[in-house]
Amino acid sequence: MQNKLDQLCVHTITTKPWSLEEALDHYAAENIGGISVWQNAIQAMGPEKAGRLIEGYPIEVVSYVRGGFFPSVDGAQRQKAIDHNKMMLDEAAAVKAPLLVLVCGADPKQSLFQSRQQIQDGIEAIIPHAESLGVKLAIEPLHPMYAGARSAINTLGQANDMAESIQSDWVGIAVDVYHLWWDELLEKEIRRCGNNNHLFAYHICDWKVPTEDMLNDRGLMGEGCIPLKQIGQWVSEAGFNGFHEVEIFSNKYWATDQKTFLKKIIEAYQEHT
Ligand code: ZN
Repeated sequence: MQNKLDQLCVHTITTKPWSLEEALDHYAAENIGGISVWQNAIQAMGPEKAGRLIEGYPIEVVSYVRGGFFPSVDGAQRQKAIDHNKMMLDEAAAVKAPLLVLVCGADPKQSLFQSRQQIQDGIEAIIPHAESLGVKLAIEPLHPMYAGARSAINTLGQANDMAESIQSDWVGIAVDVYHLWWDELLEKEIRRCGNNNHLFAYHICDWKVPTEDMLNDRGLMGEGCIPLKQIGQWVSEAGFNGFHEVEIFSNKYWATDQKTFLKKIIEAYQEHT
């Protein structure tokens, strides 16, 4: 059996205090197989230089994070979002990421239905650009607590509906346990996602009880109530054999020694997934 860490990927946001170079040094030293790059991590050096830096490491770039935020009641803003997403695709290509993750957005001034329409229009508008660069797009459904302004796509069922309606080899879905663990239809929708070849990415962390911050209090695997082994089994049964991406936003962990935190991530990954 291959080393389990070959399938482990860490998002740079998880170890936010580290520069991209520090993250690469430490991940490589721990034999972590993949890295997902957040835009803030490459801001200082720019995407081309970041791409060349990453090439020097035995680490695969899994995804670039994040595009999206398509809906707005204002048409000019929607066009701005489309242009911004094309730029994000250019940056993804420069860092040699095969996938751009989309936090799709929502405008509280209109219905979620309306926002979903605009999300689909926005994604369809950037598909030719994605295809020309060879970068795929992943719709990431977000937990309903973010339906106000961050995403009108809140269940895997809605994401499946949209990916099936768009019907492009370039558009699939990122399944994140943090957003989807509570859904009684999850097993069925994961199977549907896999059957349609739309399962592009798998993000892991845990849901802490109580959660003290809506954005930045995600838990380490095993620290909360998400049935990680069960969901991991469904994802693998659905035919997914890509990376398991650790994405933890946590004020608490960012304030600790990142080297120790990375060791904890690896232990938690080995034990709880
Ligand atoms: Zn995610």
